[in-house]
Amino acid sequence: MPTGRPQKKTVTKKKALRAKKSLAKTVPVRAATKAAKKNSAGDPTNPRRVETILQRLAEHYPNAVCALHHRNAWELMVATILSAQCTDVRVNMVTPALFQRFPTPQSMAKASQAEVEEMIRTTGFFRNKAKNIIGAAQMVVAEFGGKVPQTMDELLTIPGVARKTANVVSGSWYKILLGVVVDTHVMRISQRLELTKSTTPEKIEQDLMQLIPQPAWIDFSHRVIHFGREICIARKPRCADCFLEDLCNSKDKTWSTH
Ligand code: SF4
Repeated sequence: MPTGRPQKKTVTKKKALRAKKSLAKTVPVRAATKAAKKNSAGDPTNPRRVETILQRLAEHYPNAVCALHHRNAWELMVATILSAQCTDVRVNMVTPALFQRFPTPQSMAKASQAEVEEMIRTTGFFRNKAKNIIGAAQMVVAEFGGKVPQTMDELLTIPGVARKTANVVSGSWYKILLGVVVDTHVMRISQRLELTKSTTPEKIEQDLMQLIPQPAWIDFSHRVIHFGREICIARKPRCADCFLEDLCNSKDKTWSTH
């Protein structure tokens, strides 16, 4: 007659099998969740962190717009060309007289290099900028019927226009989202907030396009530019006043809570 011993053994085997199956199901899931959490917390580009950064920028700069004064795509393109290595405030001081003297691409296309140079001298690199603005006007007139084009490929054929200027014009004026504007502020702050490890504007733009939802591309740049002027200043960032301080691990920090 079988005793309680074999029966007990059978029950133990069944239990062990169940436990094994249960472990097989739960342990990898738990381990994966834990690993995901760990990665998510350690990865500065995790979607949750990026979303928090975008939300806080939106809360602090809900109405951020392009600071360069302009009335049309042509004026915005010229102002953006002039803004290289120069402040927007300085550009805004120069452009009213420039646009009054040469109000259209047609009139700028016929301008003399010397006159334009003199009018934009205070923006720096004025010889090259004057050459580019006149060349851009001639190209817009000759190739695009006097109207600033809307596609990236066409915009990039215009003298003085690289991706930054093309993104400013297409995004801010035409509301066509071709990319993210990467100027000196966007570059510096994206690096400080570890949204990119890249060092060139082109690569930083590609990294940001991967991280930031397309509808937010224009607002992101405008907000970061304001943030860079007011808080995350290049030489001495105002970290004690910064609404992103708890998320920031930059070596450039001047004050830290963690
Ligand atoms: S904590 Fe400092 S360095 Fe970091 S984002 Fe804010 S101002 Fe910039």
